[in-house]
Order: sequence, then structure tokens, then C-alpha cells
Amino acid sequence: MIIVLKPHATKEHAEELMQRISALGLRPLYMPGQERVVLGALGDERAIESLHLDSDPLVESVKPILAPYKLVGREMHPHDTIVTLGNTQVGGGRFTVIAGPCAVESREQFADTARAVQAAGAHGLRGGAYKPRTSPYSFQGLGVEGLEILKSVSDELGMPAVTEVVDSGDVEVVDRYAAAFQIGARNMQNFRLLQAIGRSRTPIILKRGMAAKVDDLLMAAEYILAEGNPNVILCERGITTFETATRNTLDLNAIPVIKQRSHLPVLVDPSHGTGLRELVGPMAKAALACGADGLLLEVHCDPPNALSDGRQSLFPDQFAALMRELRPIADAVGKVM
Ligand code: PEP
Ligand code: MN
Repeated sequence: MIIVLKPHATKEHAEELMQRISALGLRPLYMPGQERVVLGALGDERAIESLHLDSDPLVESVKPILAPYKLVGREMHPHDTIVTLGNTQVGGGRFTVIAGPCAVESREQFADTARAVQAAGAHGLRGGAYKPRTSPYSFQGLGVEGLEILKSVSDELGMPAVTEVVDSGDVEVVDRYAAAFQIGARNMQNFRLLQAIGRSRTPIILKRGMAAKVDDLLMAAEYILAEGNPNVILCERGITTFETATRNTLDLNAIPVIKQRSHLPVLVDPSHGTGLRELVGPMAKAALACGADGLLLEVHCDPPNALSDGRQSLFPDQFAALMRELRPIADAVGKVM
């Protein structure tokens, strides 16, 4: 339920009402606005009838939250969320570019790539230490050694680094090394893993599953917020369709749909979205034009010899050229890069 209080209701009134909501076994939420306080009550909405809020002199209106994602939806939270990621932010009129190799392969490879993307103007780094590969025979990532490399390069360059966590048992160790967790497409509905990272306060980039609807993505994000972690960034990375010309079909429709339904920031990953480096630039520009809050993309210092996803990784000079081409588009759509 969304309970809008009258302008003269005080914080004490709100607290008293929240206690009554809690006593019914519902979860109260407090959302002070410019002019009035809005309260939320999460749980079985029928229970709230016993409070007779319609006739409460301090209550202006009571209405049900229609979307199934109560915390992620815009109904309860009309303003855009901005997630702080180390010394940068995602959302709120910025266009944030997080770039790096698919996987951390060695100190030299990660440091060379990281320096190149920083010089080109990237805001954050990416690099997987635990790789969820389709084949068990493909490179699985360097594990803790990869995390150590990721963190030392990130500290050296003063750039936040994002890395994937694939197992709830690894959440604590990844949290020690990374500025943000990435949840990959293959784990979008691994609900125990979502709950485990929901108990931390570290930002999360939640990638859309290849066969997930937008609402499935939003419900997956709800699992994280319901555990108390509000720092969720969504990511569109392409879905499986009948099309075989590209690795996935990058669903840019999802960006304005997500913006309508949710207050969370959203990135686009044109690398996994296309699978082909020559398509990454055009789709990155399209993502900026259609309202994305930034990009998560793959760059490698030596793509032909990459241990994973070389075919979709940009060469450093291609990434630098793309960053230059994005700037006038950012200006045109009123985003700061
Ligand atoms: C990745 O970012 O390298 C990755 C494995 O992405 P996805 O989960 O979107 O396939
Ligand atoms: Mn990859």
C-alpha cells in the first residue's frame, strides 16, 4: 500500500503509523518528500484494512501498489535512483562507461587494458575472475588470483572495478576485492545468490537473463532490494531470439520500458548484446540515444589472443574512437560523460 500523509503530519505521526503497520506483520517504508511524507506497507495488503486509514485525519490517500515489484517499481519511488560506484556514479543524468576485458587473464593483460580504457575516458573497470562459461572446457577464470590483480590495478588507477560473482559461497571474498558485484545473465534467477548479495551494501550490476522478460529482471532485482541492498544497476545484454546473425539480439526496447517501470539505473552491454566488435560502436551509440545510463563493454589489449570473448572485444584504439563519438551524442541528449 502507498499511504500519502497530509502536509501537516509530523515525523512522530509517521513513526506511530509505521509501528502500527509493523504490528500487523507488514514491512513499513518511510519516504519523506518535498511537501509530504509517503509511507509504504509491504506484505498482505488486506491486513491494513483494520487500521481504517481512510478515516484517519492525517492520511490523505491510500492506494494499492499495483506492480508486483514493490521496491523496484516507480509507483513507490518516482525519482531516479543514483548508485555510487567508488568515485563515480551511475544514473542521474550521467553516462557512465565501464570497460575492460571479459576476463582477468594476467596482471600485464589487465593493467595494459585498464590503462588504455582510463586514458580514453572510461569511468570504471570490468574483468571477470570467475567466468560462467557455457562449456566446462573453456577458461573458467583465475579465481582469487584474478581478484587480487583486479583490485591492485583498480587501486593503482583510482578506478572502481566490477567483477562477477557466480556462487553464494564466494560473495564474501569478492566483496573484499571489488567495488561492485556483477550477476551474470546465467544467474539472474539464482535467487539464493541474489539474496546473499542483497545482504551486503555493495553495488550490484544485475544482467538480464538471455530468456528473461523485462518483468523477470525487475522481479530478480526485487529479491536484492527486499534484502536491504538498494544499490542495484540493471543491465540489458541481449536476449536469445531466432536470429543467428548476431550472438544475441540487443533489446533496446527494454531501456525505455525499464525507465517507465523502475527507478533503477540501467546500463547496456553491446559486447554480449551483439557478439561482434564491429557492431559494438553502433549499438553503444544507440544505447546512449535511447536513454541508457551507461555502458558495460569489453575491451582487450590483444583481442585475437583473448582467452574469452575476443571476437566481441574492442581494440583499445577502437574504444578511444568510440568514446570520442559518444561525447556529442551525450551533449545532444543532455547527459554528462
Ligand atoms: C560477461 O560480462 O563477461 C558475461 C559473462 O556476461 P553475461 O552474463 O551477460 O553473459
Ligand atoms: Mn564476456
